[in-house]
Amino acid sequence: MSIFDLYQILGQLVFIVGLALLALLSTALILGRMQIKEDRLIFPKLLLFTVDVFYGLFKKFSEQVGVDGKIVDQIGVEVRNKVNQKDFRKTKHEDKILVLPHCLRNTECQATLETSGIICKNCNKCVIGVLKNKGEDMGYKVYIIPGSQFLKKIVEQNKFKAILGVACYQDLNLCMMNLSNYPVQGVPLLRDGCVNTKVDSRAVLEKMGAIQLEDSGTKLDGSCSESNPKKAH
Ligand code: SF4
Repeated sequence: MSIFDLYQILGQLVFIVGLALLALLSTALILGRMQIKEDRLIFPKLLLFTVDVFYGLFKKFSEQVGVDGKIVDQIGVEVRNKVNQKDFRKTKHEDKILVLPHCLRNTECQATLETSGIICKNCNKCVIGVLKNKGEDMGYKVYIIPGSQFLKKIVEQNKFKAILGVACYQDLNLCMMNLSNYPVQGVPLLRDGCVNTKVDSRAVLEKMGAIQLEDSGTKLDGSCSESNPKKAH
């Protein structure tokens, strides 16, 4: 075989791999959008494989075809939430951790920062106090953290079987990827940023198992209020 033949075979191989990758990314994008729109699971393992292994490439591909790259994080979070939901619910609350981002704090927050994260003073000026108190009453270990380096410490220093987190879609997806050995659940922020962020507290309480929404298929209205929650039995 001449060197020219070898180059030709290599060229063909690269072309076939490129074509296969393109087919995989297109399929994942179509399935992911369907999954988000229709709220059902279609080939979840294929979707998670594509998001986890080709994360950056998948984002670039989405943008190239005119879809906001954020959809990749959205697909990762929504699919993992559905895949892990049963196992998360089966786990005792005492074996679960709830992680909240410090950016949800009120701008007048007087809480202090310690090695385990923010120590909330329960001043009731923001949703953190409500979620923390409810979580601790239920048996959750609750942490309010200013960054992912704190999450690493929490994971290393605690014994737990499941974890629920609140963050922006991108951080949530990346953390859920790193914690994929656990039945991890996530609630995305409704408004992200560094301060004054917003979360649907009913969605967090529902994931915690504290309430059942009247109609889980109903789209949440995006407010932080707790209107119409029905207590879980
Ligand atoms: S409830 Fe806690 S976190 Fe929220 S503003 Fe008050 S002290 Fe800060």
